[in-house]
Amino acid sequence: MAVPDFKDYKPLSLDSVAKRLATYPGVQERLGGKPESWTVREVGDGNLNFVYIVTGPDGSLCAKQALPYVRLVGESWPLPLSRSFYEHAALVRQDKANGSVPEIFNYDGPQALIVMENLSPHVIWRKALINREQHDVAAKMVGEFAAECHFRTSDLALSAETKKAEIAMFAGNTALCKITEDLVFTDPYYDHPMNSWTSPELDETVRAVQGDPQWKAAVQELKFIFLTRTEAMLHGDLHTGSIMVHKNEDGTEDIRIIDPEFAFYGPMGFDCGALIGNLLLNLFAQDGYPGRACVYQDWLLEQIENFCHAYASRFSELWRTERTGDAYARSLFEDQNHTDASEIALTNFLHRVEMDSLGFAGAKMTRRIIGLAGVADLQGIADPATRAACERRALALARMMVVERVELGSLGRTLEHAERILKDVK
Ligand code: ADP
Ligand code: MG
Repeated sequence: MAVPDFKDYKPLSLDSVAKRLATYPGVQERLGGKPESWTVREVGDGNLNFVYIVTGPDGSLCAKQALPYVRLVGESWPLPLSRSFYEHAALVRQDKANGSVPEIFNYDGPQALIVMENLSPHVIWRKALINREQHDVAAKMVGEFAAECHFRTSDLALSAETKKAEIAMFAGNTALCKITEDLVFTDPYYDHPMNSWTSPELDETVRAVQGDPQWKAAVQELKFIFLTRTEAMLHGDLHTGSIMVHKNEDGTEDIRIIDPEFAFYGPMGFDCGALIGNLLLNLFAQDGYPGRACVYQDWLLEQIENFCHAYASRFSELWRTERTGDAYARSLFEDQNHTDASEIALTNFLHRVEMDSLGFAGAKMTRRIIGLAGVADLQGIADPATRAACERRALALARMMVVERVELGSLGRTLEHAERILKDVK
């Protein structure tokens, strides 16, 4: 599979979507009726692409098309259409490794278009969290998703040869990686024109962050890890806006992970940190909304633990049962009756992923408060003084996670600090 040629690419519009989709195999059967009778809605609330929901008498589907520029900014910020190719390639691999992704119906490479299952009546998890809704298995499911995707695309499962071919396959997604490199690891730490924060309330705090030598050095250490450590195929953007949740009437939940266009080979802790950081941002934002926040905050802290626990326990199971790759070869451990050595290696491996996750989580939190593209959890707090107070608390924890992650030593200790910071204001 190679990146397609985009010379015949045409962006869709509300008027042209139905006609185009009708040309793909299976679409007419799925939706029923005539294309002229289908309704088309554009629902893209993301920063980059157009997403259409198309409904006919018998069913619906979701069509996502990349544009040659960043939607949030406009044509002045070009972005390659190839991101759709990487998104599709990642969805295929995530489906094989774990399955909790939308089903893909059609992929039109040259049109940068993915036609997939319409997740309905699912909602974006971030929105549910802002509304203080509880989806009790989401964190666990996402933990298992990350563990299975990471393990099964890494040197722990694949031969070195296959894994290197996979690295090569994703190596061209440089433009999307560059967005992360700039927006997460670089721009928030100096006076970049695209930064944006709650001003003037947070001005002094932002100056302190940017003038903090240890913070700057530690973030650059994390950026170096992000740039160089090709451990596994990452989702690359695993925040609460990339997860869709739905609770069925019988109380069971359907949890799906969408939007892996930032996929590339990188450090496992980056995905884990994205989720932990975004749940922590919601935790700190809760004090900015009316009503008693503490019950929900206790639930959120539990979810962060659930995510990490699910990740570690699924990863451990796979370590023991599916370790077929060239790294930590069974021939050196189990085959020599050295299971105890394998368990030590596993503990050390997971500890390192946990430390990386803390650092990346802190970097993600900082970026969402100081850099381009904030999160609705905080931006929805109408009073700037209240919002800035929440953001200052989040930044206090973020600094610890970035600068003192090794001294902190565990997620558990980090969450104790989060609780202390929350209590100090109550
Ligand atoms: P972007 O890459 O631009 O961020 P996303 O993939 O995050 O785009 O999609 C934007 C929005 O479209 C999501 O927040 C969600 O509301 C909706 N969406 C995306 N994929 C689906 C799907 N398969 N089913 C239903 N809605 C979807
Ligand atoms: Mg997105």
